[in-house]
Amino acid sequence: MKQQKELPKKIRVSTGSAIILGLLKAKLDAAPTTAYLMTYREGKCSANCGFCSQARKSYGKADMLSRVSWPVFPTEHVLNGIEKAAKKGRIMRVCLQALNYPEVFTDLTALTKAIRQKANVKISISCQPLNTENIILLANAGVERIGIPLDAATKALFDKVKGESAGGPYSWTTQLKLLGEAVSIFGKGKVSTHLIVGLGESEQEMVETIQRCVDMGVLPALFAFTPIAGTALEDKPQPPIQTYRRIQIARHLIVNRVARYEDMHFDANGCIIDFGIAEQTLLQIVKINAPFLTSGCPDCNRPYYNEKPRGPLYNYPKKLTEKEFALIQEELGLKEALF
Ligand code: SF4
Repeated sequence: MKQQKELPKKIRVSTGSAIILGLLKAKLDAAPTTAYLMTYREGKCSANCGFCSQARKSYGKADMLSRVSWPVFPTEHVLNGIEKAAKKGRIMRVCLQALNYPEVFTDLTALTKAIRQKANVKISISCQPLNTENIILLANAGVERIGIPLDAATKALFDKVKGESAGGPYSWTTQLKLLGEAVSIFGKGKVSTHLIVGLGESEQEMVETIQRCVDMGVLPALFAFTPIAGTALEDKPQPPIQTYRRIQIARHLIVNRVARYEDMHFDANGCIIDFGIAEQTLLQIVKINAPFLTSGCPDCNRPYYNEKPRGPLYNYPKKLTEKEFALIQEELGLKEALF
């Protein structure tokens, strides 16, 4: 295969994905169904998001993203691993996480073309485009889905965590505008955003933003805030599991058009007290436990991205066991109702 001169020589791969691609040998508690890659560069990202160890001013470990380590591999080895794993049906998707640096979109388009030459696998790119041209470049290179993270649920939090106040290049208004343009370029349902629960927003604010995304044709993927050593937010706790469960249910209802933000009720602290649907419908939805699985692009299960395997699990990477299901009922205070 004619080697593209722009193809970066090295790339980072999440540890779990490296095992699935045959680059590392180890046992997996939950196998990723998407191969997670991250652009590699000497040095950190040019942005400065408070929760990220890749941030310009973070002194977190350079191989970390969230609580997962991402060792570096020669790109050729990774491409061969993707080819084999896709053939065996071990991965259904490749997700490229992008740092921000001047050549990043050249790297992303070259990597996309190289992966498509090697394997018939869908490609998602999670990146922070700075303009529409960046988005068109990715669509033309054959990217199937684009993820443009909002991360924060409100304008004020966005600015504080990754915008001007954080020394970052992003603005809430531009990010929403680019999400809208990405929908017009990639199509409704082919654009995702990441929302981190636990940055300081109320449940009401998070649900309102989830509704706004869905109305734009953007699929919200939920993450639980995870404190990482060396980052600006390293001392912040993770969100209460009950809050995360209620947000997961609200997201599921909104994404599946069962209920809207306007139908839901919140208490004085902005906590969800009513989902705006009948109790029986709610119990049925909890029973199928789909709301508690990792949300995002199809086949994106991000095992233990925000939690230790011993739990509590915020996002379940695979079908729940009876024991896990019973735990969720307890977390939601539903124990009696479902038996
Ligand atoms: S939702 Fe998952 S697959 Fe999609 S961009 Fe985000 S991390 Fe990648």
